[in-house]
Amino acid sequence: MDSVQITIIGGGVIGLSVAVELSKHHGDIVLVERHGKPGQETSSRSSEVIHSGLYYKKDSLKAKLCVEGARLLYEYCERNSVPHLKTGKLIVSVVENQRQDLEELFKRGIENGVKNLRLIDSAEVAKIEPRIKAAAAIHSPCTGIIDSHTLMGRLSTEAAANGVVFSFNTEINFIEKTPEGYVLGVKDSDYRFFSSIVVNASGLSSDRVASLAGIDTDEAGYRLSYCKGSYFSYSDEKKSPPCKMLVYPLPERQLKGLGIHATVDMVGKIRFGPDTEDIDEIDYRVDAGKGQAFFESVDKYIKNLRREAFAADMAGVRPKVKGGDFVIIHEHQRGREGFINLIGIESPGLTACISIARMVSAMVREYIN
Ligand SMILES: Cc1cc2nc3c(=O)[nH]c(=O)nc-3n(C[C@H](O)[C@H](O)[C@H](O)COP(=O)(O)OP(=O)(O)OC[C@H]3O[C@@H](n4cnc5c(N)ncnc54)[C@H](O)[C@@H]3O)c2cc1C
Repeated sequence: MDSVQITIIGGGVIGLSVAVELSKHHGDIVLVERHGKPGQETSSRSSEVIHSGLYYKKDSLKAKLCVEGARLLYEYCERNSVPHLKTGKLIVSVVENQRQDLEELFKRGIENGVKNLRLIDSAEVAKIEPRIKAAAAIHSPCTGIIDSHTLMGRLSTEAAANGVVFSFNTEINFIEKTPEGYVLGVKDSDYRFFSSIVVNASGLSSDRVASLAGIDTDEAGYRLSYCKGSYFSYSDEKKSPPCKMLVYPLPERQLKGLGIHATVDMVGKIRFGPDTEDIDEIDYRVDAGKGQAFFESVDKYIKNLRREAFAADMAGVRPKVKGGDFVIIHEHQRGREGFINLIGIESPGLTACISIARMVSAMVREYIN
C-alpha cells in the first residue's frame, strides 16, 4: 500500500494555505481534491474582502485568526504580487436610534485589536462617499479586497514547489483508523493508501469527512447546516459607481450574515450581497426574483440607485456550525491521534487562511514531536 506522511483533504483556500505552511517544515505531503482543479467551491464564491475583525466575539477563534490573518494576508499579497487593495470600509447606521448598536460594534472592534477604527458622523460620510445615506458610521481603513483566484494560484504554485503532490479528481470516501494512522479510500476506485496524519479541510463536506473517520458529528457538535448567500451585480451606464469603498449596513441582531453590502472587486465591478437563505441541498443558482428585495435593502443606505441596473450574479454557501465559531482541532481526545478537523470555516476564512494554516502547522509539529 502506498504511504504518505500527511494528507490534506480539500483544495480550497484553506487546504492550499495549510499545504504551503506544512511544506515549509515537512515532506511527503499529498493534497487530495475532488474537482479537477483547486478552489471550485466556496473559495471562488465569496465577497473577496480582507476583513479587519471587528464583528466577532472577543476571544473567539474568528476574532483572533481574522485580525492576525488580515495582517499576514496583506504581507503575503505584497511579497507574491497578489492583486489587492486597501479600499477601506464603512459600516453605516441609517437611523439615529441605531447609534448604540454602532457604538457597541465599534467597541468590539477595538477590543479585538482592530487598528485605526473611527466613528464618524453623517457630514464626514458625505465627504468620503457622497451617495451613502448614514446618520453615523464606523470607518475601517484596514479593510480591503483581494483577487482570491490569483491568491489560490500562488498558493498552489508555492506548495507544489515545496514538494506537495496534488491529486485532483480524487474524492475521499473511506477513512479507517489503524494503530499507526489512517487508511484512506477514493470514490469510484479500489485504491487505498496510508497516511500518518490527515487534515480535513473539506469545507462544505467537512462534517461528512469527519464522520468517515468515525467521529460522531452530532455528539461533537460538528453537523453543518448550509446558508446560501446570493449576489446581484450593479451596472449603471449613466452614472459612476455608487461607492468607491466597501459599504455595509449595521448587521441586524441575530442575522446570519453581515447584511446585504456593497462590494467592489479588483476591476471596479460593484456587487450587492450576500443575503441569507437556509438550504438543505447545495444549489448555486440565483433567483432573479429577489431583485426587488435586494434593491429595497440597498436603497436604504445608497442614494439614486436604478432598479434596472440590478442583475442576478452568483451565489456561495456558508458551512454553518452550531457554536458559530471556527472548529480547528486535533482529535486526539476522540482517539483520533493525527487527525485534524477544520469545520465551519465560513467568513472570515479567506482573510484568516494563513493564520488558520499556521495554527494547523503548530498542531502537526506538536503531534510529531
Ligand atoms: C457568500 C460568501 C461570502 C464570503 N465572503 C468572504 C469574505 O469576503 N472574506 C472572507 O474572509 N471570507 C469570506 N467567505 C468565507 C470564505 O470564502 C471561506 O471561509 C473559505 O473560502 C473556505 O475555504 P475552504 O478551503 O475551507 O472551503 P472550500 O473552498 O469549499 O474548499 C473545500 C474543498 O474540499 C473539497 N472536498 C470536499 N470534500 C472532499 C472529499 N471528500 N475529498 C476530496 N476533496 C473534497 C471541495 O471540492 C473543495 O474544493 C465567504 C463565504 C461565502 C459563502
